[in-house]
Amino acid sequence: MNANVKPPLRRESMRIAGRLVQTDDQIEVRNPYDDSVVGLVPAARPEHVREAFAKARAFKPTLTRYERQQILQKTAEMLRDRREVFAALITAESGLCWKDSLYEASRAYDVWSLSAQLTIKDDGEIYSCDISPNGKARKIYTTRLPLLGVISAITPFNHPLNMVSHKLAPAIATNNRVVLKPTELTPLTALALADVLYEAGLPPEMLSVVTGNPSTMGDAMITDPDADLVTFTGSVRVGKHIANTAGYKRVVLELGGNDPLIVMEDADLDKAAELAVTGATKNSGQRCTAVKRILVVESVADAFSRLVVEKAKRLKCGDPSDPETDVGTVIDARSATLFETRVNDAVGLGAEILHGAPRRGALFAPTVVDRVPYDCELVHEETFGPVIPIVRCPDDIAEVIRVSNSTAYGLSSGVCTNRLDYVSRFVAELEVGTVNVWEVPGYRIEMSPFGGIKDSGLGDKEGVVEAMKGFTNVRTWSMPWH
Ligand code: NAD
Repeated sequence: MNANVKPPLRRESMRIAGRLVQTDDQIEVRNPYDDSVVGLVPAARPEHVREAFAKARAFKPTLTRYERQQILQKTAEMLRDRREVFAALITAESGLCWKDSLYEASRAYDVWSLSAQLTIKDDGEIYSCDISPNGKARKIYTTRLPLLGVISAITPFNHPLNMVSHKLAPAIATNNRVVLKPTELTPLTALALADVLYEAGLPPEMLSVVTGNPSTMGDAMITDPDADLVTFTGSVRVGKHIANTAGYKRVVLELGGNDPLIVMEDADLDKAAELAVTGATKNSGQRCTAVKRILVVESVADAFSRLVVEKAKRLKCGDPSDPETDVGTVIDARSATLFETRVNDAVGLGAEILHGAPRRGALFAPTVVDRVPYDCELVHEETFGPVIPIVRCPDDIAEVIRVSNSTAYGLSSGVCTNRLDYVSRFVAELEVGTVNVWEVPGYRIEMSPFGGIKDSGLGDKEGVVEAMKGFTNVRTWSMPWH
């Protein structure tokens, strides 16, 4: 497919247990680059959400492990075969550049295929009981069962396919029913994914997709009596609202990040600068694990920042549908304006812009800012765009760790050093969910445990293995055994 061919306007319906449902009110989905309307989706009312949960609850999934494996693997293969169709949709509704959208589409293969492979594995455990003076000739067994109720899944805009996949694939692998509310900003990809799942053989009652304004139907997703568990990926603000509103329900929260890339004095600076620029700008800097602060020790900061500028200058920022573009738009002009304000405020506090370009609507070019005070808004809050802020730290690992831990977030981190003593201190003392040595904070495989602490999450992990555990109840049972 030619990336420059725009997909036609999509007039979408919700999928409630597979049935196409329209509403009088609709939401426009806009292309952030040219502000054109690329789709119309229904604005659900709370009663649509209720209907979706009730239908899901009334259905009892009976898929065998083999049947689930087949559906998941077929989905993976269809996504692989339709990679360009999905990429075009992602670029149109999110403004992510064609390269990023192709990557987004190809990543989903792993999520679905790994879920397929894991669904056939029984992870039950056996405990022999004759192991202490009080022991008995018995065995205790564990087996994992799907939730009794329905999973409520709420997803953000920044990975329109993968954030949804990371909720749906483990849910289906464990024979659960889901009601999904994708973000109103990028719902088209999620609806297209639902159709792939139905085509792959998923019983439609196991998945509903409802679209709408969170102000009218958001709470219905959190409080529905048939929802057993709310799994949410998005901002800290909404995550805390969900925690306060959900009451006696399980809640999985994957929230914002403010991830550092730490560069110590022994680092290969060229390699570190490459990680800094890639980590801060891929996906237009809109990854929860994007490099949002570069903490570099003073003794190598001048040389390092020169290399960062050199590499940032090579990036082409512009029309997201141009296959040559490296950085497309951010999600909307309002966000781009906020980043511009934060950069200017940092400059007012002594920071220096070394590279950048004037903002045009939602197009915010990679912007290298040096000498950023560690506690200014640009780096203290999550700046969800392609800013490359360099924070200079004293040549003292204790100070570097203190600055790194000084924000409310605790998602991931990247560390550039070869010294094992430094590595062991970072692993022990950084207040984060992940420490990647010589990698960007976002490095992961789709089945490794992933998630943050502090304001970035409650410590529950995603990644296919952990999500499958989180979406099940452990049944323990025992019987006499000699
Ligand atoms: P957001 O919190 O604004 O929206 C996320 C979802 O919540 C959307 O579907 C939105 O419609 C919905 N929502 C908003 N208000 C709601 C309410 N009152 N009730 C119910 N649902 C409501 O987040 P966003 O701007 O779409 O995404 C960006 C954020 O997501 C960033 O902070 C980013 O770091 C975070 N994120 C985290 C991870 C992770 O794994 N930790 C991954 C990706 C993104």
